[in-house]
Amino acid sequence: MSQLQYLTSFSLTELQDRLQAMGEPAYRARQVFQGVYQRGLSDFAAFTDLPRPLKEKLAGEFIINPLELEQMASSADGTIKYLFRLTDGYFVETVLIPSGERKTACLSTQVGCRFRCAFCASGLNGFKRNLTAGEIVSQVLALKFTFGHNLTNLVFMGMGEPLDNLENLLKAIRILNDERGLNFGARRMTVSTAGVIPGIKKLKDFELQINLSISIHSALDRQRSRLMPINKKYPLAELVEAAEDYIRSGGRQLTLEYILIRDLNDSLYESEGLAAIARRLRAKVNLIAYSPVPQLPYRRPEEAGVARFGRWLEERKVKVTFRQSRGVDIAAACGQLAGKFQ
Ligand code: SF4
Repeated sequence: MSQLQYLTSFSLTELQDRLQAMGEPAYRARQVFQGVYQRGLSDFAAFTDLPRPLKEKLAGEFIINPLELEQMASSADGTIKYLFRLTDGYFVETVLIPSGERKTACLSTQVGCRFRCAFCASGLNGFKRNLTAGEIVSQVLALKFTFGHNLTNLVFMGMGEPLDNLENLLKAIRILNDERGLNFGARRMTVSTAGVIPGIKKLKDFELQINLSISIHSALDRQRSRLMPINKKYPLAELVEAAEDYIRSGGRQLTLEYILIRDLNDSLYESEGLAAIARRLRAKVNLIAYSPVPQLPYRRPEEAGVARFGRWLEERKVKVTFRQSRGVDIAAACGQLAGKFQ
């Protein structure tokens, strides 16, 4: 199985080249691409428009969907967490987050994470490997076709740091966006980063206008370095400068994610620093109450504490949204379920 290539790692052009090298005309690649991304076929035997010898040849070369469902957990709030086994035995998580008309898939980009943010379950077991473009794309196909979710939005915010796997991430985004396939709108995709500045700079030059969100979690360098060691390498001043460059290029919008942890980053002083950064970047702040991880000492704030912090920001003319921590009852904070299996 492992010598088979993941078909979902191929762009249409690459697939055409590959099929041509196998002696097939280019239109066969389009048929395969449409079958996978528009009809949701995950088995070559189901391609009624392909001749049998070609189906057999393709099945000897490619695997369409390399993800195998290991476990699924549904939360009372509608969030569903899928744990997938990869072909080498590692696990990744993908989370479906329904909210009104929206159905958002939260996608993983790495197995584990090398950034070791103090509050996060994904970093606890360290970094294992990058996901291939195909493994990223296949999470979307699994949720859409295998589990029948009519996805409206994609966020690259699950396990791993997306900008630490930039090449595969951008390739996956191009494949998902291809109008001859899934045709998922760039404006409905959001990449979330802990602040990898070289990645933000490269994203600025990316041809598709995807959304960017930056996990801030503290507006004070010392505190942020304690919570997010990446801040030692890419401190706040440089991060804000890179973010400013990013929004200047083509009027892009930015969101700042802020996980509120009780008695740690929920002070008035923190809110003042955050408001200054948000105003400078004309960014919306997304406030999220911390979702506790059993092995970690951090606590979730009371609802009143979240509301108070939001009010402090609003009083300073910052647009605030409150994101519920979803699926608290099913360990939906990123990396919690995979960590148990890894
Ligand atoms: S918060 Fe993101 S960057 Fe930090 S350890 Fe978790 S997955 Fe990695």
